[in-house]
Amino acid sequence: MFRPAWIEIDLGALRTNFKRIRRFVGSKVKIIATIKQSAYGHGLIPVATQLHRLGVDFFGVGGLDEAIKLREERLKEPILVLSPTSSNFAKYFVEYDVRPTVVSMDFARALNREAAKRNVRFPVHIKIDTGMGRLGLYYKDAYRFIKEVSRLKSLSLEGIFTHFPAADIDPEFTNHQISVFNAFVSKLKGQGIRFLYQHCANSMGVLKYRHCHFNMVRPGLILYGIRPQPHIPLKVEPMLSLKSKIIFLKKIQKGRSVSYARTYIARRPTLIGTVAIGYADGYPWSLSGRKTLRGISQAKVIVQDSFFNVVGRVCMDHIMIDLKRRTDIGVGQEVILIGKKKGLEVTASDLAKWAHTISYEIVSRLSFRIPRIYNK
Ligand SMILES: *Cc1c(COP(=O)(O)O)cnc(C)c1O
Repeated sequence: MFRPAWIEIDLGALRTNFKRIRRFVGSKVKIIATIKQSAYGHGLIPVATQLHRLGVDFFGVGGLDEAIKLREERLKEPILVLSPTSSNFAKYFVEYDVRPTVVSMDFARALNREAAKRNVRFPVHIKIDTGMGRLGLYYKDAYRFIKEVSRLKSLSLEGIFTHFPAADIDPEFTNHQISVFNAFVSKLKGQGIRFLYQHCANSMGVLKYRHCHFNMVRPGLILYGIRPQPHIPLKVEPMLSLKSKIIFLKKIQKGRSVSYARTYIARRPTLIGTVAIGYADGYPWSLSGRKTLRGISQAKVIVQDSFFNVVGRVCMDHIMIDLKRRTDIGVGQEVILIGKKKGLEVTASDLAKWAHTISYEIVSRLSFRIPRIYNK
């Protein structure tokens, strides 16, 4: 590790979070651990392996590539690919025993043919749209489609699901989605079309809408210990810390500038530390210090026992921090970009707020050029 930038992943925190979620939803509700995009940047295989030890019921992944990686690691849990896939790849679902998300007749028929060839009844999950407006037929148009899929002899209807676009901000809309989903599933049941599992709940659904747990939930964010909102009814522990070191230090005089575009001009003599982390690592360029209506917006880092501000523009491989009058900080000193120390904490959600983005984007874009170190 020549470049001092690394990510520490606490698998113990994953154990704590998973157990708390399990207790929160109760033992009758199955958990699909949502580990798409390399477990939100935490690393697909280490996270999946830990969840396997904890007795997770299902994995939810972003694509077939991730599903196949899990199978190659001999993880035997059922896997659901949460996105639709081109019909050309139907055979791989059957070959690797991976549940597909079905949103078209074309794909359903391709899967049915592959399953028939191998003489199996192949489980599928159908996604319907109750307000996300993204994948799946709108529930009002989905009935005939599902009826048609149900006639395919080599497929079995294992799951029906939908997704919430606004569970964190719009309870009225979310409750409406839950009730139309419920009514739709009942209508299907009335026609003899039954699914083993019904699932809707992302992290917010798990936390704030107990009546939408049905018999399966799909948490992502809270597994990793990131809160979708500041106040949630479950305590979770962050798994990920992003750390680097000071690689250069210099005193600068009043009036001198720091970094591209010279947006930062020292108003007093100060000590500037250069830290080996940048936007190529996924530390967003939008964390560059900039003037706002309310003054200067600055991201914070933790060094020793204090917060310090990021000053000037974030560079590809570097940031600069204002160490003020500190004389006890030297080259090689650890800098915490995400994580906690001595009662101080910077969370992925803090970075998201400062960068005008969401915590999901912060963690899922942390570059895999940064080594991940796993602690049990
Ligand atoms: C990502 C995702 C989830 C998990 O969402 P969180 O908000 O991270 O809990 C659940 N369901 C689907 C379909 C997803 O794509």
